[in-house]
Amino acid sequence: MFKLRKGIFLYLLIATAFVFTAGGYFYVEEVPSEYEKAMAQIKYQFGYSNVYAVNRNSTNGEKAVQSDADRAKTVYLTFDDGPSARTLEILDILKKHNIKATFFVISDEKETSREIVKKIYDEGHSIGVHSASHSYETIYKSVEHFLKDFEQCLEYIKDITGEVPNIFRFPGGSVNSYNKKICKELTDEMVRRGFTYFDWNVSSDDAVKGYTEESIYSNVMNGCKNHSVSVVLMHDSAPKKATVAALERIIPDLLEQGYTFDRLDETAQPTVFRIE
Ligand SMILES: [Zn+2]
Repeated sequence: MFKLRKGIFLYLLIATAFVFTAGGYFYVEEVPSEYEKAMAQIKYQFGYSNVYAVNRNSTNGEKAVQSDADRAKTVYLTFDDGPSARTLEILDILKKHNIKATFFVISDEKETSREIVKKIYDEGHSIGVHSASHSYETIYKSVEHFLKDFEQCLEYIKDITGEVPNIFRFPGGSVNSYNKKICKELTDEMVRRGFTYFDWNVSSDDAVKGYTEESIYSNVMNGCKNHSVSVVLMHDSAPKKATVAALERIIPDLLEQGYTFDRLDETAQPTVFRIE
């Protein structure tokens, strides 16, 4: 009888030791666990409480999205990375032709930059969030990193214009080589928060090495010809005088061909890249 109890005791001791060892082993192998992932998601979903879009044009909470057919031959010019030494020139050209465009801005705190953002707003153009740091390495580390940067830029725009921006453009576009691991989770989270993001279907390629006024002009003119609704990517940054020069020709030439220009807002059907 005694021997049997001793046997059971030894058996339990070995079994317990095994469970602990195996448990430790699996713990190391399973980082992060599904539970940890869920907790992290809840943490950022409850965090950044200012990062929610207020839909200004909503009717019964439904967005009145215009279809592509409603907007045939519409061109949305979009300018990323401003404000810059070129912004006032761009604004003058837009004003001359009485057209509206969209600026996805970087929250530069210089007083002159803040004044330019105010002017963009006062002249009736759309302002969307682009980034605070514009550092791909930082913002695409995780959804939380992105939200932190986004919040800073959102607060900047809100502070200057008095309105919460509800549209944005991802630096590098919604799908890029820096955010592959998180882009589905990230785009889902931003949409859940009520924001509309826009990629583009026409690139001026004014950020591609070797660009000229001529290359920008023909990229945009040919691109718009191939789309009923065009969202055109251009850049508003100090060195890009060629973009401004091309713009001076692009607008009157497209107007002459019967195109109309508009600014993006949450009622525009988003042009977005497909997540594979
Ligand atoms: Zn950018």
